Formats: sequence, C-alpha cells, structure tokens
Amino acid sequence: MGYDFITGPELVRKFQNHLLHTHYVDHKIAEVEKIEELNDGFKITTSEADQYESNALIIATGMTRRKLDIPGEEKFQRKGVFYGNIQDYSFVQGSSVGVIGGGNSALQIVEKLEKIAKDIYLFTDFELTADHALIDRVKTLKKLKIYENTKVLEFEGEKVLSGVKVRVKESGEIIQIPVSGIFISIGMHPNSALVRKLVKLNDQVEIIINKDCSISHPGIFAAGDVTDAFGKRIIIASGKGAKAALAVRKYVIEHRKKSRTYSAYMEEGRTAISLLNPLSRPALSTAVRAKK
Ligand SMILES: Cc1cc2nc3c(=O)[nH]c(=O)nc-3n(C[C@H](O)[C@H](O)[C@H](O)COP(=O)(O)OP(=O)(O)OC[C@H]3O[C@@H](n4cnc5c(N)ncnc54)[C@H](O)[C@@H]3O)c2cc1C
Repeated sequence: MGYDFITGPELVRKFQNHLLHTHYVDHKIAEVEKIEELNDGFKITTSEADQYESNALIIATGMTRRKLDIPGEEKFQRKGVFYGNIQDYSFVQGSSVGVIGGGNSALQIVEKLEKIAKDIYLFTDFELTADHALIDRVKTLKKLKIYENTKVLEFEGEKVLSGVKVRVKESGEIIQIPVSGIFISIGMHPNSALVRKLVKLNDQVEIIINKDCSISHPGIFAAGDVTDAFGKRIIIASGKGAKAALAVRKYVIEHRKKSRTYSAYMEEGRTAISLLNPLSRPALSTAVRAKK
C-alpha cells in the first residue's frame, strides 16, 4: 500500500477494506470487558454485552496514561487538566500553566509550552529524572519555576481550573498556585488487566512474550506496548503485530488440523479411553496414533 499523500482516517479505512476484501477479516469497534477460557478457545464479552468465541487471541491493547487520582482531576478534564496532546496546547496560550512529572515527556511538554505560556510551574515528587541534556536545557528557561520533592494534592476552580494545591514534602508547607492549565505526564500503564488471570505479567504488568509473540498461555498472542518488548514505538508495535498475526495463523491452522484428526477418529466409531480433555496434547497424540 504505497500512497504519496493520505490522511490518517483515510489510511485506516484503506486498511479496513484491505483486510475485509483480501483476507475476509471483519473489524468491529467495541470495548472488550471480559475474556474467559472455554474448553477449546475463548469467549469475549464487550461492554455492550455482545459475545464472540475464538480459537485464538492477539492482545494489542497498548498503554494508557497514568492518572493522579486526586480531587479535581476528573472534574476539570479538558477544562484545564490535560495530558499533553498537541491540540491541548491552544487552550493555555498566554496563561500560567503547571506541568506534573519529571521525566523526558514532562520536560518536552515544558519546552513546547515555553513558546506559548506566560509562566510555567513544574512539579515533581522526587528529582528530575529526564536525560541530563534535557534537564540542562529546561533549567535555562526564564519562564520556568521548578518544584522538586512536592506532592500535588488537589486541582481547584469553579467551572474551569483556576489553581493547584501542592505540599512541599520536606517542610510540609501547603502552597496554592494560580494556573489555568495543568499537563499531567507521570508515565504510562500497560492495559493488561483483561488477561491478567490468564497470562504471565512482569513486575511492570506488561505481558511477557516469546520470540513469535506467543505467551505463557496456548492460543494467546500479544503485541505492541502492552508487552515486555523493548521500545515503545509505532514501528516496533506494528512489526510485532505482523509477527503475532503470522504466528496466530500458524497456530490456528495447526489447531484445525489436530481438531480434524480427532473428529475423524471419533467418526470412525472408536472410543478414546481416558481422554478427559479432547484437545489436550496426550489426547491428540493418542487420537493421531489411533488414526495412523
Ligand atoms: C503522546 C505520545 C506520543 C508518541 N509519539 C510517538 C512518536 O512520535 N513515534 C513513535 O514511534 N511512537 C510514539 N508514541 C508511542 C506509540 O504511540 C506507541 O508505541 C504505539 O501506538 C503502540 O501501539 P499499540 O498498538 O501497542 O497500542 P495503541 O496504539 O495504544 O493501541 C491500543 C488500542 O487498543 C485499544 N484498547 C485498549 N483496551 C481495549 C479494550 N479493553 N477493548 C478494546 N480495545 C481496547 C485502544 O483503544 C487502542 O485503540 C507516542 C505515544 C504517546 C502517548
């Protein structure tokens, strides 16, 4: 698929059509709420209570931004509280703005705000952890005031955000700073909760994958930011997605072959003794041997 110029939504539509017409893969937009294991596959339930069954799954649920979970955060969503999307910068033009976080993303937001905001206040719960070059660069910005070792307690305001309440950890002093925008940038969280009971997660709750994107549970594959693969980048997620698709195709073909062998065996009227789970490996090898 090569195009000289194409918009994002148009490209996605082309992908959808390509999948549907070339590979007969349908695309449904729905939030998956539950994944349950069946004897021979999985049952998927969406937030609209639709249910689907499948022999295999690819989990590519990505990551979501961590929230602070403090008073005012929900109330002032997009009414002063933002997470750093490009379109949000226009809301704070010429205003006093806070940034919460001390890593590379937070400091990159500070650099972007420097061109448009009146003053910038940077709050971090410990010290700045971004790359040294970036820290050195932002420390020269005249508009910026840095509050290290602080805890942000609350976002304040009537209908829109008007200020932030912060505690200085060492002295316990509570300070209130008037701001009309806050950018929260305190890291990302892998969306692995859906399968946490089925698969092995590492201590950052990322899904642990093998070289072919298979995981600890047969029939489940994973790709992208939700996995423990190094490099949270579009090109890496796309590459892993392609790898997972190839691996799941191989799995489904093998799975069907085995199922067919087993049903053929059963159709011949023979009794498979002690085959409690007809798809377990010993059961299958018995079935295959019996067929031969
Ligand atoms: C602000 C920002 C800037 C970035 N800039 C760059 C950049 O310049 N270059 C770069 O290479 N990378 C960049 N990245 C990283 C890049 O976006 C990711 O690496 C990439 O999108 C990961 O792809 P993914 O498919 O794993 O996850 P995502 O793109 O996050 O996709 C996951 C999808 O799963 C869906 N989903 C989640 N849970 C459910 C559920 N329960 N049911 C149904 N659907 C669900 C989500 O809605 C989402 O559509 C940036 C990331 C951020 C946050």
